[in-house]
Amino acid sequence: MKSIKRVRLVRKADGYYCQFAIDIEVKSESRTADGEIGLDVGLEFFYSDSNGHHEENPRFLRQAEKAIKHAQRQIYKKEKGKNQRRIARLRYAKKHLRVSRQRTEHSKKLARTLCKLNSLVAYEDLNVKGMVRNYCLAKSINDVAWTLFRRWLEYFAVKFNTQVVAVNPRMTSQKCSDCGAIVKKSLSTRTHKCNCGCHLQRDVNAAINILNLAKARDGQSRSNATGVATSTLVGETSPEGGSPDLGNWRTRRAQAWLSKWRRRV
Ligand SMILES: [Zn+2]
Repeated sequence: MKSIKRVRLVRKADGYYCQFAIDIEVKSESRTADGEIGLDVGLEFFYSDSNGHHEENPRFLRQAEKAIKHAQRQIYKKEKGKNQRRIARLRYAKKHLRVSRQRTEHSKKLARTLCKLNSLVAYEDLNVKGMVRNYCLAKSINDVAWTLFRRWLEYFAVKFNTQVVAVNPRMTSQKCSDCGAIVKKSLSTRTHKCNCGCHLQRDVNAAINILNLAKARDGQSRSNATGVATSTLVGETSPEGGSPDLGNWRTRRAQAWLSKWRRRV
C-alpha cells in the first residue's frame, strides 16, 4: 500500500506489536470554547487551576505501587536462570506496562479537554521548580506523570490551535493574585489570605498568578511550548510514529551491517 510510510516491530512485555506509520490528513478539530486557564502542580492534587478546580491525583499509581513491589520481590525469590524467574520477570514488566498505559490515557484525556476548551493554557515550567524540590518517591512519580501530561498538552495545542505557555513559577505561590503583595507562607499553609481581602486556596492563587504571567508575556514568546514535543510522543496512540532520527540511524546501521555481510559472502 502506498499510504504506509514505515513499519515498526515493537517488543513490549505482553507481546510484539506491529506499528504502521500511515500518511493521512489529520482532521483538525476545532476548539469548543476560548477560555484561559492557569495550572499549578501540587502534591495534594494533580493540578489546581485558576478557576478553582482541583484535579485529583490518579489513584491507579498508588494502587499499582504495591503490586509492582510485590512482583519485584517475586523475581528475586526465584532461582537464577530458571524458567520461573523468567515468568516472574515478565509478570513484573507487565505490571509496569499497565501503569504506563493508564498514565498515558489519563494524561491524554486531561490534556485534550484542556486544549479543547481553552485558547490559552499556562503552566509552570517544572524544570525551574525541579531545582528547589526535594525528592521522595511520591514526588518523582508525580513528576513522571506531569512530564507526560505536559507533552500531551503540547501535542493537543497544535491540534486545537491552543496557546500553551510555560512560565517561571518563581514567587507564584507567595504573591497575591489580586493585589500583587507578597504574602509569605510555608508549604504547610494551605490557604492564601491577603490584607486586601483576597482569600483563596493556596494552589488556586498560584494558578491565577501563572495565568497572569502568561498573559503578560505577549505575542512573540507565547508559543514557546507549542509543537516541540510532538515527535517525542511516540507511544501506541500518537499518529506521528517513531522519532525519525532514530529511524534513520537504525536504517543506516542495518545498511552497514548488510554491506558487511555481503562482502563476507
Ligand atoms: Zn492581596
